[in-house]
Amino acid sequence: MEAEQSQIYALRRVRMVEDQIARRGVRDENVLAAMRSVPRHLFVPDSQVDDAYRDGALPIGFGQTISQPYIVAIMTALLKLDVRSRVLEIGTGCGYQTAVLAELVGEVYTIERVPQLAERAAETLGRLGYRAVQTLVGDGSRGWREHAPYDAIIVTAAAAEAPFALLRELAPDGRLVVPIGAAHGEQMLTVFVRRGDTFEEHEELLCRFVPLIEDRGPEQDDPGGEG
Ligand code: SAM
Repeated sequence: MEAEQSQIYALRRVRMVEDQIARRGVRDENVLAAMRSVPRHLFVPDSQVDDAYRDGALPIGFGQTISQPYIVAIMTALLKLDVRSRVLEIGTGCGYQTAVLAELVGEVYTIERVPQLAERAAETLGRLGYRAVQTLVGDGSRGWREHAPYDAIIVTAAAAEAPFALLRELAPDGRLVVPIGAAHGEQMLTVFVRRGDTFEEHEELLCRFVPLIEDRGPEQDDPGGEG
């Protein structure tokens, strides 16, 4: 019964990749294979399992979301990863994008500011055997200096402007993918590529993300839950 159920989900993933991702122009076969492999339904809350493979973002609690499959795929493809890439993710959420990254590279570092989400994501990733992932609770907009530089950095929340602390942590030719724009409107998915001390900037597509929340220090901090 369980094997049969998991076959059904595997078929839904094949369809998701074909209809929502490949058909919209994502051609990177490694990314498509990773998206066929990661069991998205195991990352969403029980109340969302039936909708796990539909073409949209879903709520995961604390006012946050799991991103639309197409957005996960295109952001991953824009990072241009290879197996040796070291990747930093800002905004672990439920850990789904983290798992897609971990299918492709040997080292993934991921930061989430809502402790309950970080804990749940770490538990899911551990249970599914994603050993290449290290998680941290905190404000990811400040980076994670201990493991820098990174070949790729992905920000899965909307930044008001180019996040300089993160750009500084890119390796030579490293790529940063980040939605930039108003917190509660549309943003431009933007790619920065490090060339020495300068950065090429490419605007890719309009998207809509929950805001990147920069914590203002312990005494001013307000508890999680913003959307
Ligand atoms: N990566 C997720 C996925 O697999 O679908 C989606 C993440 S959700 C769209 C954005 C996440 O960024 C939320 O969980 C939110 O709490 C987190 N976040 C917002 N600001 C942050 C910050 N400064 N540092 C770390 N995480 C942050």
